[in-house]
Amino acid sequence: MLMEKERELIVEYGRKLSESGLCPGTSGNTSIIDRKTGLVALSPSGIDYFKTKPEDVPIVNMAGEVVDGTTKPSSEIHLHLAFYKAKPHIGAVVHTHSVFCSVFAALRQPLRAVHYVIGDAGTDTVPCAPYRIYGSSELADAAVEACGDSLAVLLSNHGIVCCGSDVESAFSLAKNMEYIAEIQYRALSIGTPVYLSGDEMNKVMEKFKTYGQVKK
Ligand code: 13P
Ligand code: ZN
Repeated sequence: MLMEKERELIVEYGRKLSESGLCPGTSGNTSIIDRKTGLVALSPSGIDYFKTKPEDVPIVNMAGEVVDGTTKPSSEIHLHLAFYKAKPHIGAVVHTHSVFCSVFAALRQPLRAVHYVIGDAGTDTVPCAPYRIYGSSELADAAVEACGDSLAVLLSNHGIVCCGSDVESAFSLAKNMEYIAEIQYRALSIGTPVYLSGDEMNKVMEKFKTYGQVKK
């Protein structure tokens, strides 16, 4: 089977996204690109995360054509392909409808530096793209433009898109951005949050380069 490992990962991370509550119902979608071939494993549209099998994961090319598989690809195919075109260094995209991110997307307000972990998105502010209907190329264009150099962007009245070097890091970013959104929501509920300055956030992002088990 073409891109067997990637198809298995789409199934595995779909379940994680569902279990973690980041993707209620069949909302959200995930993709992984093979940069050598330009082929993308993309979650199928509207199939229960726990009923999806690796062979249900379609493989699409950068023109949006299905090159392997029998299912209809995610309605957000334009969104995923647009991010791969705009950000040549990324290897995976995760889109969710997680609750607290969707709250700020409904307010059309960005996520801000209420906590240093926002630096995981490579920025001190995660912007919010203007509203465009789901599944449209207009949504894809608006999201990429608003995202800029960030690895994450909110979609007005919809959710969030998170990019990563691989699906593990894109999923981890989606969890961290939901955490930020929840802290921002809770802090705003009882007071006025103090946001970390750009200078402090630059130091955090520098320090993140050596966070954890750095490869020797
Ligand atoms: P799909 O099931 O087609 O991937 O759509 C879910 C979604 O989140 C649309 O924005
Ligand atoms: Zn969506």
